[in-house]
Amino acid sequence: MADIPQSGLVGLDYKELSSLAQKLGQPDYRARQLFEALYPQRLQALESVSTLPKEFRAMLKSQGMEIQHPRIEKCFHSTDGTIRYLFAMADGETVETVWMPEGDGGEAGDGTEAGDSEWDRATICVSSQVGCAVNCQFCLTALLGVKRNLSAGEIVGQVLAVLNDRKADLARQRVNIVFMGMGEPFLNYPNFMKAVRLLTEGVGFPESRMTVSTSGIIPRIHEFGEEPVRPKLAISLNASNDAVRSAIMPINKKWNLEMLMQAARDFPLRNRERLTFEYVLLNGTNDSVAHAREVVELVRGIRCKVNLIALNPGPGIEFGMPTEQRVQAFQNILMKAGIPAFVRRPRGRDIYAACGQLKRTVA
Ligand code: SF4
Repeated sequence: MADIPQSGLVGLDYKELSSLAQKLGQPDYRARQLFEALYPQRLQALESVSTLPKEFRAMLKSQGMEIQHPRIEKCFHSTDGTIRYLFAMADGETVETVWMPEGDGGEAGDGTEAGDSEWDRATICVSSQVGCAVNCQFCLTALLGVKRNLSAGEIVGQVLAVLNDRKADLARQRVNIVFMGMGEPFLNYPNFMKAVRLLTEGVGFPESRMTVSTSGIIPRIHEFGEEPVRPKLAISLNASNDAVRSAIMPINKKWNLEMLMQAARDFPLRNRERLTFEYVLLNGTNDSVAHAREVVELVRGIRCKVNLIALNPGPGIEFGMPTEQRVQAFQNILMKAGIPAFVRRPRGRDIYAACGQLKRTVA
């Protein structure tokens, strides 16, 4: 896998900014000013950091220390208000980030471009790697393979760039973050966790407004449970038995369902927190009544909810989308067994922004 290129100031935490200021002969409060400019204020260029003397800014620049957000290469607007951003990183690699507004500006519903008018809640779906190595058979990102990890700065940078583009005011508007874009966050764990800390301590996101989804990297699930500050956990389940799961998610051959469900049972949930299981329904593969009954047995006793997602079809994916009736029947079996189960409405399907559809398509 390729190395992560140096990406400037965004991604440095307060301690690192302190050592940088010290190295450049500056008092420590300069680090605090930089931190404020980078994260809560979301400034996009050193010239805009008026709290810093010109000489210090010039010194930083001479060290290659600029404020660099991922560059918006392209934006695709869905009729439902969703925006898919294609971001270019400093080395030219691209990833996708999705903005899903809700409220008045969220859904135009009339075929006009939405998302620029008023919204009061939104979710940003963030990528953690360029491509993905996990190879889930129903996912378009998998077709890319993995090129490299994203740095913490590149992960946080996606959020900063989208918030600025949408002119979000976090004091007034509620924004959630889901780490469910391209990549498996738990295969880029240190950078992912550093990004989480910068988003909570710096940008101002409460940990309760963030969710990370994993395909089931067991050792990292255990480690994640020990983190003092962490997003909520979602497990991408997608099958009710090992035969089906290994066929559609090869990662299951390394960490099977028994190990996964044990990790789920052992996961230390906070007060009133629920684990989320995501289940992409693939017509005729994992969406029968018998499969639903197996899911009930699997999750029994775990404080959880299940999100059901009807497959988002795409070129190169061999599975089909289940009918409404099959989805409904699956949901009913879970609900009758007392398991909260929700059918997730696909967002931005027309622009390839929905779950499993992120492929860096440029049209
Ligand atoms: S579903 Fe997630 S983990 Fe699986 S291949 Fe796609 S991006 Fe990777």
